[in-house]
Amino acid sequence: NNDFLGCFSYLLSIKAFSDSNHSVLSSFLLILMLPLLPSSLFPFRSILSSFLPDHEHPHPVDREAEGGDSPPNTPGTPTSGTPPFLRPPTAGGRAQSDNQCVGRLQLGGGGMVDHYDMQSPLSPTRPKSPWGRFDPYDFPEDQDKEYVGFATLPNQVHRKSVKKGFDFTLMVAGESGLGKSTLVNSLFLTDLYKDRKLLNAEERITQTVEITKHTVDIEEKGVKLKLTIVDTPGFGDAVNNTECWKSVADYIDQQFEQYFRDESGLNRKNIQDNRVHCCLYFISPFGHGLRPLDVEFMKALHEKVNIVPILAKADTLTPTEVKKKKFKIREEIQQYGIKIYQFPDCDSDEDEDFKQQDQELKDSIPFAVIGSNTVVEAKGKRVRGRLYPWGIVEVENSAHCDFVKLRNMLVRTHMQDLKDVTRETHYENYRAHCIQSMTRMVVKERNRKYGHTHRPVSHSL
Ligand code: GDP
Repeated sequence: NNDFLGCFSYLLSIKAFSDSNHSVLSSFLLILMLPLLPSSLFPFRSILSSFLPDHEHPHPVDREAEGGDSPPNTPGTPTSGTPPFLRPPTAGGRAQSDNQCVGRLQLGGGGMVDHYDMQSPLSPTRPKSPWGRFDPYDFPEDQDKEYVGFATLPNQVHRKSVKKGFDFTLMVAGESGLGKSTLVNSLFLTDLYKDRKLLNAEERITQTVEITKHTVDIEEKGVKLKLTIVDTPGFGDAVNNTECWKSVADYIDQQFEQYFRDESGLNRKNIQDNRVHCCLYFISPFGHGLRPLDVEFMKALHEKVNIVPILAKADTLTPTEVKKKKFKIREEIQQYGIKIYQFPDCDSDEDEDFKQQDQELKDSIPFAVIGSNTVVEAKGKRVRGRLYPWGIVEVENSAHCDFVKLRNMLVRTHMQDLKDVTRETHYENYRAHCIQSMTRMVVKERNRKYGHTHRPVSHSL
């Protein structure tokens, strides 16, 4: 009778409090009333109590129901009370869960209602991951697995990188008027050339190659990119363009030198990295392949920077002309021994789709691009393109040009590789060269000071 009354009043209070919409207060009062619940409804109460903060230390009433002073659950002992699979994971539950438990769930009345058979987790209970869905172990099927946790390392790197932000330095080179600034603006959807001053013909005759830098901070889905565009106005504009690549080469070396100094200095914490990661070299669509200036430029710079050749203003050529020109340029690049940026080889275990895309990307060299900063209407859709009396060329239509391929390569797929090659190959070459000349200088100086007692380092050895 007491049990019945207790149970009835408990249910009434649930009803009353849930009607009253004060969920916090209701929960609090329900918790307070929990000890009043009759012992015969022990499993029901245990289930409820398992959601309470202190369920590891049962209330005296619980202990009584469990057999008073009976020892705590020991491995291998079938347990009464809350079955382990109904408990939220706790440190205390570990000893129990380390063993396979086979037991019977008994109701207060003594009736056997069910069997439970469970394979407990082998590992310590995992603390709640702060990574949520980014935690590689935070999947239900992984909950039971033994793990150390180093699979979260990529997340740690990811978090740190996102916090630090990314930087990328892109150089554009080529004759003026080939559409460099238009393409850069189309690529990053920014206006990087707001204050550009175009020179007239007279001014251009005397102008030497100038190097200008535009930096813009762009953010996409919380990821920050500091983009620096290095432009080379005046390149190829003069009447005599001999060695006009020299100032570009010097600029690239200066950035390496600065980095080398900073890296060898005392404070290496906040080094500003201005090394050029990629150079888009614009080739005119109007010639027959490469011009001597193109060959000279690429040969002078190919060991300093990743060169990506671009066939400019592809909308001025028919598809057949584009194909022929691309073939000719590729042939000439090989013939003159120019080392343009090589896309890394695909892993053999990559899927076929990926391999095909990778091959298409390699075959697209030089990227035939179209640039435009205006949005036009084509087939009811607003697109970035160029409007002609005979139709519209769409910048982002891969049937019209390679703009999307170039953007994907630069931003989505190969930005990190471009940076890695800059660091591991071009900068390393510069550094090795620097150290070699410094060593040579030291040896020379020592020989001068102490006479020729020490044999000079012979490189022919
Ligand atoms: P830059 O001097 O190399 O930076 O060249 P600009 O970007 O200033 O472009 C020079 C001219 O070419 C401008 O009138 C552009 O509108 C035009 N232009 C840019 N890109 C293209 C293109 O892909 N196709 C054609 N037909 N014209 C372009």
